Amino acid sequence: MTQPQSPSTHALHDLGVHALAQALRSKQVSAVEVAQHFLKRSQTHAELSAYVAIQPEITLAQAHAADARIASGTAGTLEGVPVAHKDIFVTKEFVTTAGSRMLKGYRSPFDATVVAKLAAQGVVTLGKLNCDEFAMGSSNENTAICAIGQDQVVPVRNPWNKDRIPGGSSGGSAAVVAARLSPAATGTDTGGSIRQPASFCGITGIKPTYGRASRYGMVAFASSLDQAGPMARSAQDCALLLSAMCGPDPDRDSTSLDVPEEDFSLKLNDSIEGLRIGIPKEFFGDGLASDVRAAIDGALKEYERLGAKLITISLPRTELSIPVYYIIAPAEASSNLSRFDGVKFGHRAKNFTDLADMYKKTRAEGFGDEVKRRIMIGAYVLSHGYYDAYYLQAQKIRRMIADDFQSAFQECDVIAGPVAPTVAWKIGEKSDDPVANYLADIFTLPGSLAGLPGMSVPAGFGEGGMPVGIQLLGNYFQEARLLNAAHRFQQATNFHAERPAGF
Ligand code: GLN
Repeated sequence: MTQPQSPSTHALHDLGVHALAQALRSKQVSAVEVAQHFLKRSQTHAELSAYVAIQPEITLAQAHAADARIASGTAGTLEGVPVAHKDIFVTKEFVTTAGSRMLKGYRSPFDATVVAKLAAQGVVTLGKLNCDEFAMGSSNENTAICAIGQDQVVPVRNPWNKDRIPGGSSGGSAAVVAARLSPAATGTDTGGSIRQPASFCGITGIKPTYGRASRYGMVAFASSLDQAGPMARSAQDCALLLSAMCGPDPDRDSTSLDVPEEDFSLKLNDSIEGLRIGIPKEFFGDGLASDVRAAIDGALKEYERLGAKLITISLPRTELSIPVYYIIAPAEASSNLSRFDGVKFGHRAKNFTDLADMYKKTRAEGFGDEVKRRIMIGAYVLSHGYYDAYYLQAQKIRRMIADDFQSAFQECDVIAGPVAPTVAWKIGEKSDDPVANYLADIFTLPGSLAGLPGMSVPAGFGEGGMPVGIQLLGNYFQEARLLNAAHRFQQATNFHAERPAGF
């Protein structure tokens, strides 16, 4: 286990969640000092456009309260550790926009369960993070919100190369962790939005089994797929955060699973000797860029050195996951987004003739192009006459994709492959081509459709020196095993500790 580094010899922003929690508990540093340090750093690196809300007085008040609990011996497991939240989680004290003009300036009367659970362990909120509008996207170029320190809406930049996208939709989350503007962040993953930005920014992220983290207070995109998870620099840090985030929430999220809270740190150091890693042959076809393939091959060799056994498996419906996801997710989105009608909350058009006109103008003004595209696709596939042809077929194939995983897990304990076919692309490169964006989701969608836990672990570097993540997928409730496999890898490698130049 890594020893906590002394804050006197390391800048505070070099410490991860685990090390910071220890330094705080042993009073080597105060929560207020830590919060001030990160707030200042976020200001000096506003060029990344990652933060959409910062309110120092609120953060510092939370830090003071954390210091008081440390002093009185009532500290939580993460007391005083600062975390920034993807702006898809509603928060009482910070505005919540979900990256949309529709919710500009919106203030929620309550905190999302995940936010409240982290706060209950002493987490201090640094601010809210940029994301694709309603979490729809893979590049963060779909945000409609102007970031702190900018005078116009611009996409989040990747700290490894500011001309590149950080990934999406949790791009702000990945960027701040990679740039050490926050030791950790929350993210959400509907079809890859934790894993893909984590891979593109060289950090570690985990999406738990669908239903382990409450969706209450997460602005809904596709309810049968949306899951929250942590993004941090190491698997050890993710384990600490995930333990605090998960747990049943039966009164508030009917899909939350009745599975007790779990300490995901307990098995981190277990040996992975004999671990059977399944390598899906469909993840290594022509579409996979050679630089990404080389990094993944190198990581798999490292796993063999650690005692794991590599087994070729098949996930035969991998390609179908794209049409299936891009039917089901828009269908659910079109239903979820019907609540934004200018009546209950959010934007309302100023000039209109009657109620129907108010709805139309409000939605035309409030939603961006990608969101409108998905609402139209969703309404179409759910409409009478097309429901059977598209939506029902997609649901059937979704079940087959989940069954394919169950067959695969007869032969292996964990599945490994690339997170994305390429490294992070240039800002603007695919912004006019939605289908090109959709195709790049191919390796994250199958696990999402099956509701499986998945992670991205820094595994090397590819073209242009950009980070490459290896994806680990486990069977239901195997989060601890994934974190264990990731932690052992991180003890043997240094990719997760590499930092982008200038940060
Ligand atoms: N890129 C996928 C999409 O655009 C996934 C997004 C997500 O996981 N929130 O839908």
